[in-house]
Amino acid sequence: MSAGKAEFLAWIEGLARVYAENRERLTELDAAIGDADHGVNMERGFGAAAASPEVQNASGIQSLLQAAARVLISQVGGASGPLYGTFFLRASAACAARAELDAAGVVELFRAGTEGVRQRGKAEPGDKTMLDALHPALAAMERALAGGGEIEAVLAAGVAAAEEGMLSTIPMQARKGRASYLGPRSAGHQDPGATSAWLLIRAAADVLR
Ligand code: ADP
Ligand code: MG
Repeated sequence: MSAGKAEFLAWIEGLARVYAENRERLTELDAAIGDADHGVNMERGFGAAAASPEVQNASGIQSLLQAAARVLISQVGGASGPLYGTFFLRASAACAARAELDAAGVVELFRAGTEGVRQRGKAEPGDKTMLDALHPALAAMERALAGGGEIEAVLAAGVAAAEEGMLSTIPMQARKGRASYLGPRSAGHQDPGATSAWLLIRAAADVLR
């Protein structure tokens, strides 16, 4: 079983839908510990990525993810644009010249993307960011792959771990990003970026099967 350009286009289009549907939820979460723009940022960014001719007409997985990254970096205000842009840029490099990805390729894509977010944002797990969903999701995907899992099983493991990681941000005090300005008052709220990262992986699981 493998995933090609059509599946990755469906992922980006799925994300545009998912973030539109979850705009209010992400806005509420960001209103509690940030500036209430995360829902709009994600809806606008992925809406623009899905509508972009460079994404729609890309010749392969690498150019598709690269085009999506460029849209996110250039069109999303806020910390999340460059961070998710970096995720997709690094993910695209991990797919270099491959027409299809198998389970190992999908894990490699998420490893490269997650590592990119960590380097770009200089956050670590426990800082109450999107990394608190991405990092445990990657670890779970690596375990599922090592256990012989195919794409569907690998992503299912990633979704479950991302959700757990997202919920683990509730008691955390933010040490990175806008929420860190609140100090101890950031505790008791779910991180908006960890929530959008869970949705990112869930949308992949919904199409890459
Ligand atoms: P902004 O904070 O600039 O308004 P968004 O509201 O779109 O941008 O995104 C906020 C989310 O970005 C946070 O919930 C957090 O998960 C994530 N984030 C912020 N700073 C970092 C960082 N340095 N590394 C990783 N993620 C970060
Ligand atoms: Mg914000």
